[in-house]
Amino acid sequence: MYQEQAGRRRNGSHGSGGYGSGSHGTGNYGSGGHRTGGRPGRRGRENRTRNILLVVGTALVAVFLVFFIRTKVFSGGSGGAGEELWPDAHDPARPVHLDGDGKRVIQWEKVQVPDWVTKDLLPVNEFSRPGTFVDDVAGIVIHYTANPGTSAEQNRNYFAGLAGGETETYASSHFIIGIDGTILQCVPMSEVAYASNERNRDTISIECCHEDESGKFSKETYASLVRLTAWLSDTYMIKTKDIIRHYDVTGKSCPKYFVDYEDKWERFLRDVEKNRQ
Ligand SMILES: [Zn+2]
Repeated sequence: MYQEQAGRRRNGSHGSGGYGSGSHGTGNYGSGGHRTGGRPGRRGRENRTRNILLVVGTALVAVFLVFFIRTKVFSGGSGGAGEELWPDAHDPARPVHLDGDGKRVIQWEKVQVPDWVTKDLLPVNEFSRPGTFVDDVAGIVIHYTANPGTSAEQNRNYFAGLAGGETETYASSHFIIGIDGTILQCVPMSEVAYASNERNRDTISIECCHEDESGKFSKETYASLVRLTAWLSDTYMIKTKDIIRHYDVTGKSCPKYFVDYEDKWERFLRDVEKNRQ
């Protein structure tokens, strides 16, 4: 679902949620071990204290390691600027590369949209294609149209029709994927689209058509979404943690199916990772 206005409350950030409660099985220390007979004595007490500290320390290290590994998995291998995912990240011949400070340098004239995307750009206008240059491409935001049964072309024409300003609605998206898997580009990637509220200036938006109220995507829509997201991710060196739902920006139920079913969303992210080059 596109968003009428730029800018609204920041809410999202529901985080990756419960890496739960540990159960780092420290087991039963205490009892066992060398009993010296009789009273523990000072030496015995010191030994026991040391043993307890050792066990607690080991447990803490274990918990930390589990946390660290989980974080790594969730973020799809975070770390530096992306060199581990894209070994040529600093190569200036790359249409998008990193400078010495790890900042993204986008050579717009070299970024070519693949031929499986159909360009059907909106006219420049205040309401759906303001012609404003983006600040960066730091993320990808996934949406659903919330308009069951409509085609990519119909949604594209709806955005184009806003240009007249009769409804004073501000809305658009860089890409729209149809129920048949067609991918339309409505706004150049170098320009702002009105889809993702306060993330309009530094993300690329993808709207997906769907057949019914559940918001579930057809096989064709899903396949195109994975393909397009993986391509954008590779092109702009966007890590998995920066592929987000509209929900993650505003808390809105968009794309509905991926908000209702968190496991499907995570599966989608894994499918994108598998489809990176
Ligand atoms: Zn949305």
